[in-house]
Amino acid sequence: MLTIVDERTIKPVQVYASSQAKREPVDWAAENAGPVSTFPLWHTLSPTMVEQFQREREANGGLDITQVPRDLSVVAWYWRCDRGHRWRETTYSRLDLPVRVGPTFRNVRRWKSIAGTRAACRKCVLEDYGATYAKCGHPDLDLNNVNKPPRVFGGWCGNCRDSRPLQPGDALLVDYAPPTSLAENTLRALVRVQVPLVTPAEANAVRVRPTAWGALHVFPDMLIPSKRIAIEYDSPGEWESGLSISLPGTG
Ligand SMILES: [Zn+2]
Ligand SMILES: [Zn+2]
Repeated sequence: MLTIVDERTIKPVQVYASSQAKREPVDWAAENAGPVSTFPLWHTLSPTMVEQFQREREANGGLDITQVPRDLSVVAWYWRCDRGHRWRETTYSRLDLPVRVGPTFRNVRRWKSIAGTRAACRKCVLEDYGATYAKCGHPDLDLNNVNKPPRVFGGWCGNCRDSRPLQPGDALLVDYAPPTSLAENTLRALVRVQVPLVTPAEANAVRVRPTAWGALHVFPDMLIPSKRIAIEYDSPGEWESGLSISLPGTG
């Protein structure tokens, strides 16, 4: 999917067409269009598509949709839904007519059947039936995930997951190298056999609520970020020292 800029309004127009659809509407109209009502069935097939095409008549080379063949796949025409979403797509793709696949017919795409019409606009379908994320409420823009009623996924959307500020309990890597000992490295190697411990080069600190002395992170001895477990132990001498496990807040 690519985005081109429509110079008439400087609004991005989404293009849903393969590179095969490389003829511009204006050029095709000048060279190929027959008289109005050459293809009269449009009004029967989809009055909504007729309206969507008509709203972009100028961009579509001044044509009436009845001058456009239904199975044309070389021109990405302009369409505009009644909420103002604009996009380009071939008439062949718009109609999405049931096609024979072996002994059966492939049905209209799922997102169109959820919307209840073959003339559905993708953005409207996402607005009405798209999934959202529970933690931030942001929409999921994948048409494959539309549903009636809409789904709510747990957690954060991809953007928020990548950019949200660190929460208490999150592991992080701080540019600071606490001294390690041979004993610690040996213990780390032993524990690593059983649990997904990270190395100090992957993460060495945990974000905490500001401590009494104002620190925002602490340096546990070992971290298992996937389980949100931090291990702190004392090693004044040999192995008899105590081992304590603490669970930071789960944010
Ligand atoms: Zn729309
Ligand atoms: Zn989000």
